[in-house]
Amino acid sequence: MKAAVFEEGRSDLVIQDVEVGAVGPNEVLIRTVAAGLCHSDLNHLNGVFDIPRPSVLGHESAGVVLEVGSEVVDFEPGDHVITCLATFCGHCERCLAGRSYLCESPMSLRDPSDAPRLSRDGQEMHQFLNVSSFAEMLLVHERAVVRIDKRMPLDLAALIGCGVTTGLGAVFNKAKVQPGQSVVVLGCGGIGLSAIQGARIAGASEIIAVDLNADKLGVAKTLGATATLAPDPDRDLAEQIKELAKGEIDHALEAVGVASTATAALECLGVGGVATIIGLMPAGRTFPVQGRLLLDDRRIQGAYMGAQNFRLAMPRYVEMYLDGRLLLEEMVSSRIELEDVNIGFDSMRKGEALRDLIIFDQQN
Ligand SMILES: [Zn+2]
Ligand SMILES: [Zn+2]
Repeated sequence: MKAAVFEEGRSDLVIQDVEVGAVGPNEVLIRTVAAGLCHSDLNHLNGVFDIPRPSVLGHESAGVVLEVGSEVVDFEPGDHVITCLATFCGHCERCLAGRSYLCESPMSLRDPSDAPRLSRDGQEMHQFLNVSSFAEMLLVHERAVVRIDKRMPLDLAALIGCGVTTGLGAVFNKAKVQPGQSVVVLGCGGIGLSAIQGARIAGASEIIAVDLNADKLGVAKTLGATATLAPDPDRDLAEQIKELAKGEIDHALEAVGVASTATAALECLGVGGVATIIGLMPAGRTFPVQGRLLLDDRRIQGAYMGAQNFRLAMPRYVEMYLDGRLLLEEMVSSRIELEDVNIGFDSMRKGEALRDLIIFDQQN
């Protein structure tokens, strides 16, 4: 099959032939229909995080089940599915405590003594985040998959595989935005725009979208923002947000992963406000916090993968799309072929892209 391979010593992807292994007892083989380009992929391309190479990147995808392993009972060929990197074992302490999205069990990985899922000329290829979406087929553990309603368009379903779930879940499960509250979202990429939609669905009365890109702010308005701010970089960001807000801000969701926006997320809050940091910061990165602000019941918290089990959450988000509450087409900036994956990442580097979707050839 064709796949976009991340080679040692390169910062772009190369389209190559990659072999898929035989389906293991607890595995599912999927024909990829669509895969989204996510910022985490770009961070790896840019060398912010290190992974073994050669590797097939991509982790936000949807497709149709082709084959299931001998032990698999939850899926059958023909099922429409979304993949997710947040595999869960179901019996570790984190899973039992309701944090299956942070499960660290290696059960979804193949034993190192077994043949790899992906290979090239007999050489093992690293499977990125247990998924490797930039490929015509996905061979994954069954706990990396959720079945969805067949009425859901599979190209848009791919978006739910990471960005949408991360943004919506942060609002519903971590921030727990209440009807009538005021929310500011810093950063209007795929995750920020999803957080804006989450705030709208949760009934927030004021939703302020912050981004430097005017086009993204336009989309943010379509998706539910009640006000937008393209901040003046020479002025204090939190002050500019507070000037725009009607009253005190209850929730700030940071979807950039940068120190200055994380600091502003706390500093713009009213008494009792909560800053939820969704943006991915590299290990070791810190940001300044005015300790005094925490005394007035303000809080800072993180939210990973929407802080929920994806098997529960994703079908609900599919339902929200089908009943018209969740808008997905509006988040797609372009549909591209696998061969154009590097062009997609270039536009993400420039901060232009919302969500670019790779659409795979339906003949394969
Ligand atoms: Zn992602
Ligand atoms: Zn677990």
